[in-house]
Amino acid sequence: MPESYPWESGTSRRNKLHVLDLTSPQLEDLIQSWGYRKSHSRKLFGFIHRYGMNLPLAFKASQLPKGLWHRLFHDDQIAMDPVSAWTAEESCDSSTKYAFELKSGGTVEGVFMPFEHRNTLCISSQVGCAMGCTFCATGSMGFHRHLSAGEMVSQVVRMRAQHPDPKGWPRRFNVVFMGMGEPLHNIEQVMKAVDVLTDDAGLNLTARDIAVSTSGLVPRIQQLAEYPNRPQLMVSIAATTDKARSQIMPVNRAYPLAELRQCLGNYPLRKREKIMLSYVLISDVNDKLADADRLAELASEFPSVVNLIPMNEHEASPGMLEPHGDRVQLFYDRLIQKGAFATIRRSRGRDVAGACGQLVQTLSKGNRIARTHI
Ligand code: SAH
Ligand code: SF4
Repeated sequence: MPESYPWESGTSRRNKLHVLDLTSPQLEDLIQSWGYRKSHSRKLFGFIHRYGMNLPLAFKASQLPKGLWHRLFHDDQIAMDPVSAWTAEESCDSSTKYAFELKSGGTVEGVFMPFEHRNTLCISSQVGCAMGCTFCATGSMGFHRHLSAGEMVSQVVRMRAQHPDPKGWPRRFNVVFMGMGEPLHNIEQVMKAVDVLTDDAGLNLTARDIAVSTSGLVPRIQQLAEYPNRPQLMVSIAATTDKARSQIMPVNRAYPLAELRQCLGNYPLRKREKIMLSYVLISDVNDKLADADRLAELASEFPSVVNLIPMNEHEASPGMLEPHGDRVQLFYDRLIQKGAFATIRRSRGRDVAGACGQLVQTLSKGNRIARTHI
C-alpha cells in the first residue's frame, strides 16, 4: 500500500483523482468520505473493472445508488477514464492490436492474444522507451513518459471486455508487461497496477498470472524481489558477450552480464517458479551455435526457460533480419542438447505490426476495425 493516497497528496495528475489508480480499500475510503456504505465499494470496484469502462452499462447493472455514480461521473476532481479514444486492428492469426490514445498525452499499444485455454493481454508501461535497444521499434521512439497505474489497468479492462468468451464469462487470462516501455523503469506504478489487477474485488488475478519483462535493470530487479506480490520475471538477454550485448542493448553498459547473472542467481524464486529469458534471434548478429552454447551456460545458473523470438523485422532497424532457413531450429536444438529448457515463440500479430518489438506510436495500414471515441 502506498504511504499516502493520491487524493491526500494533492499532486496527482492535473490534480484529479483517477479511479483506475485505486485499489478497492482506497476506493472504499473515498466513497466512505462521501457518506456511502463500505459495502458499496467492493461492488462498485468490481463493476468498473469487469465492464471494461462501459460505465453506462455498469451503472445500469450495478443497482448502486444513483447519487454515487452521478458523483463519480460529474465531480470534476474525479477522472474515470484515462483513455480518450482507441483503435483496434485484427491480425490474421486472430490476435488484435489496440492503440489507446491517452488523455494525459501520447498513444500506447496493447495486444490481445487468444490461446486455447486462456487469453494473453500484452500491455504497455511507458510511452516510448529510454533503453534504446537497436532491434526494437519502441526503442527508436525514445522516452516520452511513464504511464500511471490506471493507464495500465485501463488497457487490461478494455481489452478483456472486448473479447468475452463465447462459452461463458469470465475467461482465464494473463497479463504480460511486454508492450511499449521498460516496466522496471516505472516500477512503482507497475507494481501499483499489479496490486489493482490482483485485487479480489476486481479482476482477481494472481501474481503468477502476470509477467514483467525487463531489459536487465539490475537494481530494479533487486527491488522487485522485495515485493511480496511480485509478478513473474522475464529478462531480455539478446546477446551473450558484453561486447555484443552493449552494441545492441545499451543498458548492458550500465549493468554488464556478470552483474545481471549474479543478480538473477540470487533472485528469490517461489516453488517451481522459473526466470524466463527472452532471446531475440537476429540473422548473423547472435544466431551462431557458439551463442547458443553461451546462452545455455547462462541459463543453467538458475531455474530458467529460454524463449527464442525470431527477429520481427521493421523499418526502424534496417539490416536486422530474421535468421533464414533452419537457423532458428538449429539454435534451439543446440540449447536443448546443452540441457537448457527452451521454446520458440512465433510472435503473434506480425501482419498488423503488433508483434514483439514492433510497437510504435502509429498503426499499420489496413485491417483497421474500429476507432471508438469515448
Ligand atoms: N522493455 C522490456 C519489455 C518489452 S518486451 C524488455 O525489453 O524486456 C519486448 C520484448 O520483445 C523483449 O523481450 C525484446 O527483446 C523483444 N523484442 C524487441 N524487439 C524485437 C524484435 N524486433 N523482434 C523480436 N523481438 C523483439
Ligand atoms: Fe525498450 Fe524493451 Fe524495446 Fe529495449 S526491447 S527498447 S527495453 S521496449
